[in-house]
Parts: sequence; structure tokens; C-alpha cells
Amino acid sequence: MSKLYIYDSMQNKKVVFEPLDTQNIRVYACGPTVYDYAHIGNARMAVVFDTLIRLLRYLFPKVTYVSNITDIDDKIIERSNLEKVSTESLTNKFSKIYNRDMKMLNVQEPDYQPKATEYIDEMIQAIAKLEKEKYAYFSDGHVMFNVNSFKSYGALSSRKQQEQIAGSRVKVSSYKKNPEDFVLWKPSKDNEPFWKSPWGRGRPGWHTECFVMATKILGTPFDIHGGGLDLKFPHHENELAQSCCFSGNLDNKKSYAKYWMHNGFVTVDAEKMSKSLGNIKLVKDYLNIYNGEVIRLSLLSAHYRSPLNWSEEVLLQSKNILMKYNKILDALKNLVIIKNTKENKIIIEIEKALLDDLNISKAFSILDASVKEINKKNEIEKKYIKEAIEFLGEIVGIFIARDDLASSKNKKNLNLNEINILIKKRNEARKNKDYKLADEMRNKLLTMGVEIEDHPEGTKWKEI
Ligand SMILES: [Zn+2]
Repeated sequence: MSKLYIYDSMQNKKVVFEPLDTQNIRVYACGPTVYDYAHIGNARMAVVFDTLIRLLRYLFPKVTYVSNITDIDDKIIERSNLEKVSTESLTNKFSKIYNRDMKMLNVQEPDYQPKATEYIDEMIQAIAKLEKEKYAYFSDGHVMFNVNSFKSYGALSSRKQQEQIAGSRVKVSSYKKNPEDFVLWKPSKDNEPFWKSPWGRGRPGWHTECFVMATKILGTPFDIHGGGLDLKFPHHENELAQSCCFSGNLDNKKSYAKYWMHNGFVTVDAEKMSKSLGNIKLVKDYLNIYNGEVIRLSLLSAHYRSPLNWSEEVLLQSKNILMKYNKILDALKNLVIIKNTKENKIIIEIEKALLDDLNISKAFSILDASVKEINKKNEIEKKYIKEAIEFLGEIVGIFIARDDLASSKNKKNLNLNEINILIKKRNEARKNKDYKLADEMRNKLLTMGVEIEDHPEGTKWKEI
């Protein structure tokens, strides 16, 4: 098998990927915090790592992919207070919407999609151990990680402590010994969700959530830890610090994840997409206009490590590429291919490009060159072309549902009768105080893209 090269953000260079266990490749990538609709930045991360997983699955017999959902956090609490709903129902709604949108982009479900609130006990145990071993301290209701207790702090982001202090615009809280110390456990106010702990009623810090879920599900070390570039510091740096101290591997910065991979930012008109600039682009809005494959290919149009400038032009280009190849696939639909990848020179070249840190543009340029003057090709050459298009499509996650690209795939065919039956069943369950069944019905409706609201005059529903 040819070697896979990936860019390791810890070493800041391209390296040969050497699995810890060739029989099971283990990958963790930080998923979304669910309090709003998924945006293009969320989707880029999901699509990039889904493509990496597809490539790893082509290369290795087994891949275990974990991507979490953060369902407790300050922003979630803020939004749920604003909308007067529980954090649970808010995060339940938006995690379902996230998964629905990602499915439209042909993102395969991760093998595990843990929610932070399902691992609170394990988080408390990990924090208690860090505190007991003096890597963390209790101060004014908070448990803080003491950055000075871990001398390799900054190994991932190559930041020296002095730079971190200078770069920090956050006012130093009174309960911190050092400005860079970060929260492992924080107290909850009276109106905020809480869990009981040795440090009082509170909730875990975000950096603790991912480190505990990754460790619990995959075991350490695992092969690849991924996420958006904006998470490299401080989120990933802080996950790493906790893990090294927790496992007692103070001098082994590969004791958590062997490799780190980060995808670049999404920009809009050359500015970073962000809430404060008001230029957030939502996946659901594009799904109303474009087929999911058009959006997916657009998200992969720049190399995953480069910034991606999101624009209508990129979407149109991707649409044209898909139309071109769908047309070729249609013309070749009666050709029966015998999978013979070893002898297919186009596939050999495409594979080489993909194994070079996922060089998808190069893979497409190889394919483009191969289909020039396709009508003049003989049958064997055409078979090789068809096989190569399908090969690239499988790894990039396109040419799967080749329906009308001009229209969106997102058109919902809501079955009014079914909706009414489910609402009726839910109301009956509520009447019988069977809240579990009532929740099941509500979830079923959410999965269909229907949200219900209870009013004094009855239950109303709307499309989401
Ligand atoms: Zn994370």
C-alpha cells in the first residue's frame, strides 16, 4: 500500500501517517456547540473530516470515528434563557438539525457522537484526579488547571507562556493563580443547569469535556485529533495538557493523540466568518437553493488547510463540475466496470494525490485530463474513466444521489397525516404522564423537520 501523508499541526509539517494499530484507526474531531443552526464553518469541519475518514476507510480495515456534540456551555445557557426553553430541549433540537443538515451533505454519521452531558461522572472523576495530584486547584467555587504545573504547556500551538500573557485580552479573574489557567469545573448560578460534585453544584469546562470523551471512548493515545484551526489554541492545547497530566505522561506530548489535524477558516469577502461581523452563512439556507453535493464540493474546493472564501461563484463552479461528471456517468451508464484499480493508471494517479494530505484539486485535475476528448476513447479507456470517476466520488463523497442538480434535495415532502397522528399520540402520552413516549414523538417530529409548540388553544407545528 502506498503511504499516506498528512500535515501534523503539532510538528507543523507533512509526515507519513503511521497508525498505532493498523487494524483500527482511531480519530476524534471536535463537533459543534448546538444552540443555533449549523453554519458553513461547522459544515466545513464535518465534510473535511468525513472525507478523511472515507480515505482512511479505503486504506485500512477499520476506522473508529468519534465526533462530539457540546450540549452544555455558557452560550447554550444564554440562548435557552433568551428563548425560555430548557437547555436540554434547545440542544436536542439543534443537534437534530445539525445531523439532518450534515446528512444532506453526504456526511456519514460518526461511529460515536457523544454528548457532553452523558459523561459528567467521568469528567468529575478526571477533575478530582487532576486536583488530587496538584495539577488543578480549587478557588472560589471553580476548579482551575494550573498551567505552571505542566512545563510542556504550549507544545501544540508552539506558544511560549510570555506570548500567551501578552496575547490575552481577557481580564484576569481573581480566582486564577496564573492568567493562562483554565476552568475544569465552574459553579452554576441558581437558574443554571447543574450537576452535584465535590466542589458544589456546577458544570464542566469545555476543554475537559472533549478530553474526557475522547479518552473514554477511544483510549489514549489515539491516532488523529482534529477540528477547526480556531480550536488549536486554547481548546486543543488545554485538552492535551489535561491528558498528559491525567495519564502521567508529562514528557510525552504524543501520549494523547499521535497526530493533530486542523481545517482552515471560512471567509466571506475575505473576512473571517463570525457572529460579531454578522456574516454567518447557514447551511439550511443554501440547502434551499442548492443540492447538498454542490455545497459539499464547494466546501472542499480549497485545500482543507487553506482558508476557504465562501461565495456564489464557488457554488456555481462546483455545480458545473458535478453536472459535467454526471453527464459523463450518464453517457457511460451501460458500461459494466470490473474493479481493477491496480491497473487503472488514472486511479493510481488520483490515489497518489489524495494520499498527499488530501490534495483533492490535484485529483480533479487528473480526472479532468483523462476525460478530454472522451468520445475518441475506446471501450477499455472509457471503463477506466468511469471507474476513476466513481473512485474519486466515493472518497470525496459525491456522485451518490445523482438527481437533478439544479434543484435542491432539501425539498421536504411533509406528510400532514403522519404529523397529525404523531402530535395526537404525543398529547395522549402527556395526558397519561408517559413523558418518555411524549419525548419520543417530539423527537420523531423533529427528525422529520417539524417543531411543535404547545399553546393554551392546542399544539401548533412549524417546519424548521
Ligand atoms: Zn473539543
